[in-house]
Order: sequence, then C-alpha cells, then structure tokens
Amino acid sequence: MVTNEFKNYAEEAIVHTYNRFPVAFDHGDGVYLYDTDGKKYLDFAAGIAVSAFGYNVEEYKDALKAQIDKLMHVSNLYYTEPMAEAAHKLVKASGLKRVFFTNSGAEAIEGAIKVARKYAFKKDGSTDHEIIAMEHSFHGRSMGALSVTGNAHYREAFQPGIGNVVFANYNDLEDVKSKITDKTCAILFETVQGEGGIYPGEKEFIQGVRELCDEKDILLILDEIQCGMGRTGKMFAYEHYGILPDVMTAAKALGCGVPVGAFVVGEKAEDALEPGDHGSTYGGNPFVTAAVCKVFDMFESWKILDNVNEISAYMDEKLKELASQYDVIESTRGLGLIRALEFNVPVNPYINKALEKGLLVISAGTSIIRFVPPLVITKENVDDMIDILEACIKEVNDK
Ligand SMILES: *Cc1c(COP(=O)(O)O)cnc(C)c1O
Repeated sequence: MVTNEFKNYAEEAIVHTYNRFPVAFDHGDGVYLYDTDGKKYLDFAAGIAVSAFGYNVEEYKDALKAQIDKLMHVSNLYYTEPMAEAAHKLVKASGLKRVFFTNSGAEAIEGAIKVARKYAFKKDGSTDHEIIAMEHSFHGRSMGALSVTGNAHYREAFQPGIGNVVFANYNDLEDVKSKITDKTCAILFETVQGEGGIYPGEKEFIQGVRELCDEKDILLILDEIQCGMGRTGKMFAYEHYGILPDVMTAAKALGCGVPVGAFVVGEKAEDALEPGDHGSTYGGNPFVTAAVCKVFDMFESWKILDNVNEISAYMDEKLKELASQYDVIESTRGLGLIRALEFNVPVNPYINKALEKGLLVISAGTSIIRFVPPLVITKENVDDMIDILEACIKEVNDK
C-alpha cells in the first residue's frame, strides 16, 4: 500500500482521470506482481488483459533487448524486417489480408472507422455515411472511438463527436436491422463486450449481422482489442462463430506490454485506404513489432490456446460453485479467460478487500467483477484466487 505522502506526490503531477488503487507496483514474476514494500499479489487483471504471459519472461525480454540493441525506430518512411514479419504473422493468425499498426486500441478503432468511411466514399462519393455501434460498448477514449462508445456518461461532456453514429442493442439482430439505412457504411461491435459487462456475442446475432453486411455491402468491424489474442480460447473470438469480419482491431495482448495496436483489413476493404490516407510516426516501429513477432511465436511454442481452453473450463466450474454459495452473486458468464461474476450489490468493497489480501481483480461496471488473468495461469492459481475471493466475500458480507 502506498503512503499518503507518495500518493499526494504522484497526484500533484498527473491529470486526475483515474481513481487509482492505493498501491505502487515495483516488479513482477510469473503471474505475480510485487509492490514497493515487497508484498506479493496474484494477478487476475493482467494490466487489463494485456500481459498474457505474465511477467519477467526471459525469452520475451531477450527478444526486446536484442531489438533495442539493434534499432528502436525509423518511422514509416522506411521498411523494417520486424514490421513486415509481424504483419505477416497477424495476417496469418486473423485470416484477413493487410495490417496497419497503431500505438493503442483507440487508434486502431480510429483507423477502422476511416477504412469504412473511405470504402463507402469510393462507392458513391458522398460524405454522410453512418456507422451502427452498440449500446454498452467500449472502444476507447479518442474522439472517434468515444463517438462509437455506447456509454453516454463517457461521451456527454465531449460532444459533439464525429457524428452519424447510431446505437443499437447488442445481441439484438432486429434492432440492428431496423437501424440500417442506405447511408450505413459499417456495423461495429466487440465480439465479446468487455467493459460493458463481459457479454459474449450470440451466434445468431453475429452470423446474422455478417449476412446483413454481405447483402448490403456494409463493412463488419469487430473490436477484438480485449477479447482477441487467445483470450477466448481461439486466437480471435470471431473464430467461434465461423465468420470473418471485414475489419478487425487488436491491441492489449498484441504486444503483451509494449504499446501496439493494429487494424487488420480483409479482402473487401484491403485497398480502401491509399497512400496519403493514413499514417503514424511510431506505428509499428521495429521495437514494438519485434515484441509482436515474439508474442505470436510464444503463442505456438507455449501452446497458449490449449492452456486457455483447459483452465477456463476449470475456472468456470469454480466460479459457478462460488456463485451458488453466496446470495450476493447473481451469475457468472464469459468465454475462455474473460469471465464475469455478477453481483447484486456494488463490487468495489470486494475488490478492495481482495487487494488487501493480495489478489488483483477489476470491475466491469458497478456490479461485475471481471477476470482477465494472464493466459498462462494454472488450476492452482485458480484455486488460490477462489480461496482469497471467498474470504473477501465472507468478510465484506459480515460487516
Ligand atoms: C481497451 C479497449 C479499447 C481501447 O484501447 P486503448 O489501448 O486503451 O486505447 C478499445 N476497445 C476495447 C474492446 C477495449 O477493451
């Protein structure tokens, strides 16, 4: 736990956009983080679904150190080998055609929106195309990403947004259908809604939207920033539904700790953006793309997907057991290692108690505990997590 002095020192110099937990982390090892007092924490948050391999991973560190010794950055005016290789790996893993590397998830969404608008512009030359996004969605904090985020509270003070965005209810095919006009250029949603409460897309919904998009030549944009990169037990969550999006966004675990995102375009939209249409100074620099290359290699050599599928089934079982024992828990849901425990009371007291007891979990809204652990966790880690969480539930409920 941090001292008030340190907290004040930090808050003095940073913009107050976060209510941070009262802890300062110093280092990590495996699935554990250590604070500046040396206290150990079991990490079921993974830096918000980022650190898929956990911490202090020798071969990942070695790959980054080797790239630092060679070259960090040259801009996108030149080719580098790591970028070309990372792009090919992402194309292969996604089943799509071409990659643009960004520095964050929000920027990947910005790029995806530009692809959709340009694709439609090239068809009819008009500049009033519409995007259908979903209620309770989250796509990031930049103006474009915010404009398609279905949480009025995040948007309100920053209006006007980019405009021509309409919101439909997630998993409601009829609602989406009713919002399509001849101006619609894209339908955008998370394959599994993350911040909105861990809601996996339903098969009929996702396949139905895919068909609507095909029928009307609308681009389907899937946000895989949180649910992609193996988290659901497939490399990308849309593989569960037997469809391909026209544009896909990735970030978070794409670099496992270096700031990198990407939007990836399929056949239909692969030539929508042309030279001069988009750019980024840092985007895909050799440092971050060396990390991306290593991440894809490790997904294979560490057999990450097998572990996610095995452990997530076990974790689902354990969370169901827990849910059945305590009246404050309503339900549990999720896909792979993105899981929710929905409470009928605010979850903050439980999450704060967990921190005290050396367990990191985060919320998704006021009544949901979200679990997005490193993808390398073991059954023993799940048992430890359940034990600590159960102790927290007992203590908080007793008060
Ligand atoms: C985190 C997240 C984003 C935004 O990513 P940043 O890197 O924070 O800009 C967008 N979409 C989803 C689904 C996310 O979980």
